[in-house]
Amino acid sequence: MRVLVTGGAGFVGSHLCERLLADGHEVVALDSLVTGVRSNVAHLASVPRFSWVEADASRELPVTGRLDRIFHLASPASPIDYVDLPFETLYAGSDATRRCLERGEADGARVLLASTSEVYGDPLVHPQVETYWGNVNSIGPRSVYDEAKRYAEALTVAFHRYRGVDTRIARIFNTYGPRMRLHDGRVIPAFCWQALQQRPLTVFGDGSQTRSFCYVTDLVDGLVRLMESDLDLPCNLGNPTERSVLEVARFVNRFLDNPAGIEFRPLPADDPTRRRPDITRASERLGWEPDVSFEDGMAATVAWFRSVLGSRPPGEP
Ligand code: UDP
Repeated sequence: MRVLVTGGAGFVGSHLCERLLADGHEVVALDSLVTGVRSNVAHLASVPRFSWVEADASRELPVTGRLDRIFHLASPASPIDYVDLPFETLYAGSDATRRCLERGEADGARVLLASTSEVYGDPLVHPQVETYWGNVNSIGPRSVYDEAKRYAEALTVAFHRYRGVDTRIARIFNTYGPRMRLHDGRVIPAFCWQALQQRPLTVFGDGSQTRSFCYVTDLVDGLVRLMESDLDLPCNLGNPTERSVLEVARFVNRFLDNPAGIEFRPLPADDPTRRRPDITRASERLGWEPDVSFEDGMAATVAWFRSVLGSRPPGEP
């Protein structure tokens, strides 16, 4: 099949491109490079079934030829990005989603929207099931992401319901692994970077808030299975093992022999207190469950951050 991956040079997108190529597909990676990095897919440049387009999907999809599948992953996805790139984040959820759906309609291509656990906001139902409608602050610091993705889901369902487009919606929970940006601001890169430099880990609040971390190749497997399933309802994809942020900090300090300990900082506004996916739907309908342990996933992730730090000029922050 001929597959378009928007956000193809991003963290998840680049792993998805690798997987689709390994499955024998022709892959077009499109990325604006606002948060994606060209080097994430540089190693794929010599693969004949791979092509690369630099473009902002919210403005244009300059991809010629008929597509069979569109994975719409393009979006900033870190709380620090929402502050730096508020409009890019809103337009990635709105305009870019619309372009992908219109292209899906024109080509008869199936479109998968990468939605997010953030549609549940600071959830009042735990663990989060797909039938839960969420608890989102529409004007808070995360709203540019949360509400753009909620709109993206509504748009996707409308194209499916009223215009017959074949659609899938993945609600992606916290994901980690190689190719996360070192200064992405998210908790795993922040802790790894701090621990590798033997600095104290910055735990926000008292660290009792929880997240559930899924290794990137597990997530990618879920995305591929969802795309090829007949499930047009939203589907949670995430690892149901829940950990507090303090537990993660202690784990990272132990794992990297960091004697510098922990430093507590104020909790950012609207930081969700807990998050864990109910993956019954994914397990029953896709036969999917995450496979990679936190220890193995973190070993690969730390190796990545070590290599990034090792390749930087001395003195660079
Ligand atoms: N966090 C933290 N220290 C950091 C970065 C993040 O304690 O240096 C916390 C953050 O407040 C949140 C959790 O870790 O409770 C996960 O944050 P992240 O930005 O990775 O993802 P999200 O909040 O979007 O789930």
